[in-house]
Amino acid sequence: MPHFIYSTVNAGKTLEMLKTAHMYRERGMDVLLAKHALDVRFPGDTIGTRIGLKRRADFVVSELDLVSELIEETIEESLEKTGRRRKIDALFIDEAQFLTSRQVMDLEVVVDDMDIQAFCYGLRTTYTGQPFEGSAYLMNTARSIQEISCICFCGRKATVNARVENGRIVYRGEPVKIDTLEAQNRGCFYIPLCRKHWKQGVYTLSQEVS
Ligand SMILES: [Zn+2]
Repeated sequence: MPHFIYSTVNAGKTLEMLKTAHMYRERGMDVLLAKHALDVRFPGDTIGTRIGLKRRADFVVSELDLVSELIEETIEESLEKTGRRRKIDALFIDEAQFLTSRQVMDLEVVVDDMDIQAFCYGLRTTYTGQPFEGSAYLMNTARSIQEISCICFCGRKATVNARVENGRIVYRGEPVKIDTLEAQNRGCFYIPLCRKHWKQGVYTLSQEVS
């Protein structure tokens, strides 16, 4: 099964993923990068970080896709171009919280049958405090679980992805609200908070997503 690396928002999760993928490539390994179609902070197949580092995803995973099939298609495409069949060593998936349970279970095919190491990066819970479907399955089935830690403005460990709308933290609504640029311009954004400040509804503007 895959490895699951989780964090709150703004913890540098995507940067960490790109760093690790780069390290694998430096060791001569063949690596695939994937993003989820619900991640629309950057257009199309662009995987972006808040510090400006960007990479192109080898494929984008939509709700009904199976990652094992997308990998096979990618291998077939490069076989047509180069005449050589790639042996993929590792797969990195960003925003893996959006995966469905079916997609997480399909990663078993990727790891066991295709012999590809899979690393899933994602958030653990929604802004309402509920686990994402993909993350709940990953927490229960992953080969290893690692946390990238982040701190609240108070210095305590941040464990909650708080959502701010019109200056106030919101606790209820549709489970998934996408952090688009347009939403940010309307004063909607996510910030990492400790549970105490999330409950109190307190945050500082210096934590806003920029
Ligand atoms: Zn706090």
